[in-house]
Amino acid sequence: MIDKLRKIINDNDNIVFFGGAGVSTESNIPDFRSETGLYNAVSKYGYSPEQILSRTFFEKHTETFYKYYKENMLYLDAKPNNAHYALARLEDAGKLKAVITQNIDGLHQLAGSKNVIELHGSVHRNYCRKCNAFYDANYIKNSKGIAKCQCGEIVKPDVVLYEEGLNDNCIVKAIDYIRNADILIVGGTSLSVYPAASFVNYFRGNKLVFINKSSTPYDRKATLVINQPIAEVFKKVCFD
Ligand code: ZN
Repeated sequence: MIDKLRKIINDNDNIVFFGGAGVSTESNIPDFRSETGLYNAVSKYGYSPEQILSRTFFEKHTETFYKYYKENMLYLDAKPNNAHYALARLEDAGKLKAVITQNIDGLHQLAGSKNVIELHGSVHRNYCRKCNAFYDANYIKNSKGIAKCQCGEIVKPDVVLYEEGLNDNCIVKAIDYIRNADILIVGGTSLSVYPAASFVNYFRGNKLVFINKSSTPYDRKATLVINQPIAEVFKKVCFD
């Protein structure tokens, strides 16, 4: 399996990577959709993560939103893992054209990736809703209660909440890269959450690779399926 993936990467220079929460779990960022995340949120806050991370909730219960957000969505000490570093190296080598991610943690950029399409936004960008002033993630983390701008208005993270649409520009770019790729590597996602599965359907290239801890409903479409933790896989492929 690992040898096959290494050969696919060595033989091609038009690769696109599409990743989900599983890419960052080995950097100790939990998937908030996991059962423990869900259970903890319901018992502590009285709402599920899906309820809390919705636009309606942000508007109506901003203080509780920020309490949950600061405790569960900000991992500012997290370090990139070998998956992030390998992808950055492949981009440097001219093999990888883009990283398309559902993650909001900024770890791809921290590892050195430059062309990163963040479908769900980033915790590192936060804007005042009135004057559009920019604030970094540390400002949010260190703010007491609701994060507010110097002008007094509420600051909103540039993170796509439930009930909000994805950024059109990101969708167009992501589909364009997937459609034109020869190789698509899909990693750290079970493809069960919108829009991952629908994006993969745009792929017209010759090799589709899935790297995920567990199997996905789309495995039969793939050229190669590796059911192992993705950082371990990329370590073996690129750094051993
Ligand atoms: Zn402001």
